[in-house]
Amino acid sequence: MAKQKELLDYQKIEKYAPEKLEQLQFHYKEILKLIGEDETREGLLNTPFRVAKSIQFLTQGYDNDPEEILLSAKFKEDYREMVIVKDIEIFSLCEHHMIPFIGRAHVAYIPNGYITGLSKIARVVEAYSRRLQVQERLTSQIKDAIQNALNPLGVAVVIEAKHLCMAMRGVQKQNSVTTTSDFTGAFKRAETSAEFISLISSKLS
Ligand SMILES: [Zn+2]
Repeated sequence: MAKQKELLDYQKIEKYAPEKLEQLQFHYKEILKLIGEDETREGLLNTPFRVAKSIQFLTQGYDNDPEEILLSAKFKEDYREMVIVKDIEIFSLCEHHMIPFIGRAHVAYIPNGYITGLSKIARVVEAYSRRLQVQERLTSQIKDAIQNALNPLGVAVVIEAKHLCMAMRGVQKQNSVTTTSDFTGAFKRAETSAEFISLISSKLS
């Protein structure tokens, strides 16, 4: 049953709202003209259509409810040690420039009677990052969703990302990485957060 639901969720990725697709396509064609392109040349003929699909794909997170994702796989369990999912890839769009920021999220929580499926943590990250975002809010939203859905003893989220809007334009700092973090409960204790930081910094392989 759970598996079937997951399959349906994945199919959703390739589903596009046709009426939106048409409007987006129209506007991207206008943009092509505005930037001085000939929208009728061969290489650009299908570009508005492709970009319209691509922007729907990149913002599909609006259709997902992260807390619902967590609650769909919430299990009673006595485990009370740190659970860490690290190196979750992030592909998001900065809301100021609609240019990608890409990086990795590291998420931990300490269960308080309930755990969730590990893949659900990654899906929560995905649901929030496939929207127009700022890294600070993305970090807090992931933390809040886990805190609200599972009421654990603590949640920790660290995100490291490279903002292409900084690398390609503006200050053109090509290699700078922005790190954000947000902790609740037990992770506010220096000892616990230090353990988390050391675990996400260590390489297993
Ligand atoms: Zn930006």
